[in-house]
Amino acid sequence: MNRRNFTKTIAVSTVALGLGSLKLSAATPPSQLAITMDDFNWANAVRLSADERNNAILGALRSHSIKAALFVIGRNADSETGKNLLKEWDTAGHVIGNHTYSHRNYNDPRMTTAAYADDVLRAEIILKGYPRFRKLFRFPMLKEGNTAEKRDAFRSFLKQHGYRTGHVTIDNSDWIIDERLRIKLEKDPQAEVAPYRDFYLKHMWDRAVYYDELGRKVMGRNVKHTILMHFNLLNGLFLGDLMDMFRSKGWQLIDAEEAFTDPVFAAEPKIVPAGESIIWSLAKATGKIDKDLRYPAEDGEYEKAEMDKLGL
Ligand SMILES: [Zn+2]
Repeated sequence: MNRRNFTKTIAVSTVALGLGSLKLSAATPPSQLAITMDDFNWANAVRLSADERNNAILGALRSHSIKAALFVIGRNADSETGKNLLKEWDTAGHVIGNHTYSHRNYNDPRMTTAAYADDVLRAEIILKGYPRFRKLFRFPMLKEGNTAEKRDAFRSFLKQHGYRTGHVTIDNSDWIIDERLRIKLEKDPQAEVAPYRDFYLKHMWDRAVYYDELGRKVMGRNVKHTILMHFNLLNGLFLGDLMDMFRSKGWQLIDAEEAFTDPVFAAEPKIVPAGESIIWSLAKATGKIDKDLRYPAEDGEYEKAEMDKLGL
């Protein structure tokens, strides 16, 4: 959708909703969104094989002319199959980022900075040979340290090694929907997947609107968003639908590398425990923007009741 159509859509829907007094000027810029996908866990194949899932996700990105960022768990690229699947991302021009070798939780009180740093460097050995590898690091579970000492020590480590943090702005729980979908298909391979699609799109839109508004409150402007999602069956089936949905609502899809140029990604909020979405974390650090921020910001627990009700 070009700018002119976007403006027209806003004008029409404003009238239709009777919101004549709402000021949405012609200059209102569209929200922008990049796809960032975590884990590269291809081994849990159901309905689609690992190859089919890889092709489906890459095909959806290609048909929308979008370059994503894939944050790879090193051990998932530490085999012939893993290497071959990942090579296709590299060839297609997507960014490859570091997501540690073993996907441990840095907020675990038993996890030391030294052991965690070793796990990052171990992944780097696996990933650095890919031409599209960039020194972008994403914390597993978005957990950046349970103490100020661990948080600051790791920020120093990343800088010393030339890394930037590949923050998420729009956090969500796509993984729990995927988990429910896979359980369903293991029991009943012919099960209808449309209800999972509908719940997924609604959930992602709900979270996007929440973080988009929180972002404007925190930054006083639109940020370039990086939405969290996983290399899972859900996205193998519905990534294209998800991107279509955002476009149909007037959002602009952008490349991940462009999104990461937003200065919001260089912020270092001093909160403990550290982590979550960078928008959430900045809102928490101000202490004023939203006093009712939940912790963790996103969790499958929050979605359970609704999914149970829908029989998902
Ligand atoms: Zn992860």
